[in-house]
Amino acid sequence: MAQIIKAVRGTRDILPPDTALWQHVEQACREVFHRYNFHEIRTPVFEDTQLFARGVGEETDIVSKEMFTWEDRPRAQSEKAQSLTLRPENTAGVVRAYIEHKMGETGKLQKLYYMGPQFRRERPQKGRYRQFYQIGAEALGPPSAGSESPARDAEIIAMLAHLLREVGIKQWTLQLNSVGCAEDRARYGQALREALAGVKDKMCGDCQRRAETNPLRVLDCKVPEDQPIIDALPKISAYLDEPCREHFNQVKKILNHVDIRYEINERMVRGLDYYTRTTFEFTHGGLGAQSALLGGGRYDGLSEALGGPKAPGIGFALGLDRFVLALQSEETVGIPDLNPVVYVAPLGQGMNAEAAVIARDLRKHAIATELGDETFKIKKSFEAAERAGAKYILFVGENEAATGQFGLKHLKSGEQVTVKREELVEKLRGAKPAAD
Ligand code: AMP
Repeated sequence: MAQIIKAVRGTRDILPPDTALWQHVEQACREVFHRYNFHEIRTPVFEDTQLFARGVGEETDIVSKEMFTWEDRPRAQSEKAQSLTLRPENTAGVVRAYIEHKMGETGKLQKLYYMGPQFRRERPQKGRYRQFYQIGAEALGPPSAGSESPARDAEIIAMLAHLLREVGIKQWTLQLNSVGCAEDRARYGQALREALAGVKDKMCGDCQRRAETNPLRVLDCKVPEDQPIIDALPKISAYLDEPCREHFNQVKKILNHVDIRYEINERMVRGLDYYTRTTFEFTHGGLGAQSALLGGGRYDGLSEALGGPKAPGIGFALGLDRFVLALQSEETVGIPDLNPVVYVAPLGQGMNAEAAVIARDLRKHAIATELGDETFKIKKSFEAAERAGAKYILFVGENEAATGQFGLKHLKSGEQVTVKREELVEKLRGAKPAAD
């Protein structure tokens, strides 16, 4: 026998009925985004490696350890092989598209959202996969379009609270921070470097290296022994300049007004280098070690770092895999029932055609219908209807076809009624798919 081939480590298949829950989250996101005037953008799954090296940051875990990168075959001998990478996140791709299509020239704020797979070579565990799915949104544009305003930060965060409510996730916590502007970060980085000089020898290898190359990243460290040392380091809030401090105050003020509760977490500098000013993360208690539901922040210098015009912006990415896990852990939202309302059972030879017409008509009227075939006798048709999760079974025999009167049986209660052909749609339309 040939050897079975399995899905690659860190990847997985999402099967029905779980896919219904995935669709539920996707639909809720599309609806909420629409209400906030965000529009969909779709960018390629792979990009030039340089995009992530420059856009995410060479020193980040993502770029230094986790990317799926390969050399593309050159088209001609004279050409150099291009280095390509499966996208590990989508903000860099969105900003690249914004620059490439000169979206800033419209003069308006671009409010864009995306949905799709991302790829990181992380150690797989519950809630952490090598191919995972993100849904995210970005609001960016020229400063004249209001893209720098704290109102934008607060709007995105309020939209997320709204989204979580619509999706049905209740037990979340919002953590908020400001990492200031490039100058603040440089001063803070210097302060960290100085503070780390005396203690870094007691820290993990990664921290020792980061203490030199990118001291802010030390704050991401998860090694338990390093935590007391990190907690004693200088805090970012002391290094914010007046405009950044005021910006952050405004964000907090609006959030207070719209009744969104948050905790300040000064260690949250997030895993990507491009963040400026506001950063945030929503966590969930039911997720275990991988508790981050979503994260985001402002990235005022990213467009320029990628060779584009000034285009301040703010965005977030939510982990769809983790949203589904959170929903399952709260158990308040059942899997939406996408089972057929009715199973159409042709009785005996020659009834397939009549059954096909009835099924077509029901489906045209948006009634989810499963169609059997004549090979099943009545008992087997019942079993098939139950296995399909249908609410009703409809018998299509020669008699029924001749008289235009059909037997319709409610599977759970066993109650059977005779329904005229022209009344079938009306009778079934009111029936919810769930077998109650
Ligand atoms: P990040 O792009 O790292 O800010 O991640 C944003 C969100 O994506 C996180 O809060 C997670 O919900 C999700 N996420 C990130 N990495 C993974 C992964 N390897 N597997 C599943 N979800 C992930």
